[in-house]
Amino acid sequence: MTAPPTSSALQCPLCGQANQCAMAAGQAPETCWCMATPVAPEALAQIPVEARGKVCICPLCAQPRPVPDSREGVAAGPAPI
Ligand SMILES: [Zn+2]
Repeated sequence: MTAPPTSSALQCPLCGQANQCAMAAGQAPETCWCMATPVAPEALAQIPVEARGKVCICPLCAQPRPVPDSREGVAAGPAPI
């Protein structure tokens, strides 16, 4: 009831592409790509809270990659007065 219409167990919540999740497709969990591919913690952090633990992300989004412009997040610089 609270799920947005665009949400799908087969879709990556980050990019909207097919997440290729074996479990969502009704196959054995051990056949899922996530068993062989480590998921970057920063990728997991981008998953909407309501989707965490329910929806898998896709292999591309799971790969760790540098973020060139991190506008949001914890500010590491000196705080302005
Ligand atoms: Zn994705």
